[in-house]
Amino acid sequence: MERPSDRAEAVNGDAGPRSGSPLLTVSDLTKTFPVRKGLFGRPEAMIQAVTDVSFSIYPGQTLGLVGESGSGKSTTALCVTRLLDVTAGSIVFDGQELADLSRRSMRPIRRNMQIVFQDPYSSLDPRMTVKEIIAEPLRVYGSYGRRGQGERRVHELLEKVGMNAGDAARFPHEFSGGQRQRISIARALALEPRLLVLDEPVSALDVSVQAQVTNLLGDLQEAMGLAYLFIAHDLAVVHHVSDWIAVMYLGRIVEYGTVDQVFSQPTHPYTQALLSAIPSADPTKADDRDERIILTGEIPDPADPPSGCRFRTRCWKAEPTCAEVSPELVDTLGVGHPSACHFPELQASGAHR
Ligand code: ADP
Ligand code: MG
Repeated sequence: MERPSDRAEAVNGDAGPRSGSPLLTVSDLTKTFPVRKGLFGRPEAMIQAVTDVSFSIYPGQTLGLVGESGSGKSTTALCVTRLLDVTAGSIVFDGQELADLSRRSMRPIRRNMQIVFQDPYSSLDPRMTVKEIIAEPLRVYGSYGRRGQGERRVHELLEKVGMNAGDAARFPHEFSGGQRQRISIARALALEPRLLVLDEPVSALDVSVQAQVTNLLGDLQEAMGLAYLFIAHDLAVVHHVSDWIAVMYLGRIVEYGTVDQVFSQPTHPYTQALLSAIPSADPTKADDRDERIILTGEIPDPADPPSGCRFRTRCWKAEPTCAEVSPELVDTLGVGHPSACHFPELQASGAHR
């Protein structure tokens, strides 16, 4: 019989960096949201936010989870941290199955997996001082300590994220977006977690500040051996921080591999389109804008996804079979990593350019 983890193992393949066994293994994760369209109107629709998603994250490593808005990234993050109940599938963290744990049984585990959200403006309570914000998880778990102990810990955490101990007495509105995100990160680190789920942690920040916060996350990972699930809607953002990349489209992973495999040998047309949207860092390729793949149309309604391959309505290679059969996530071309396409290619030939 196939164990839940066999699936993620098969998807991970043998290639690429890893150390020991995974810290987190997600297998066939599925999340649907029932929605009632009007009081007496149509029957309930099911939003298929996440469908059969599998991946692993190794200690000290980063999986970059990428896809445009509405592809199910945040839902995946909320299921993994069990802030949402899952519809089906398995989430094994540090050897323990989380998918069916109660809120109460999740409590001791949650201190080991913390989440940082996109918007540093709404995720910090404006009435609390920075010290109270960072100390809160310590107090909740009874780790604040006596007298100066907790305070010293708060100061240490602030310095870890490049802030000053003197910032502890101030309020969130006194800081910039980048500084607020540093405060969110300090709070997430307070309990010394092993996994940080970062849901678009830099998407709301100015481009210049994005790199600073991303670099900080890289330094913290190295110093503390943290594992990251790093979510972004842009492949460029996760390029330099990721060991592995999973590309999501309309609830499914369409391509999965090491950062080198996905960036240098993408075989799924959606990945190729996302990559072609990244301005080249190579000045000799500055005029390659003609090579750009323009993805037309919007991401379809997840309450009524296309039959077969969900990407086919925006794909320049779609054939009749794409409407009938949902492509498996497999390494058809033997390039060392899988993609979910009936017609995978190393070059994006025939694209609208
Ligand atoms: P992403 O983070 O990639 O933008 P989300 O996970 O937020 O995507 O959303 C995936 C899909 O699920 C979207 O169509 C969204 O509208 C829907 N969705 C997310 N949360 C809920 C919810 N609580 N109830 C109903 N639909 C939801
Ligand atoms: Mg999101």
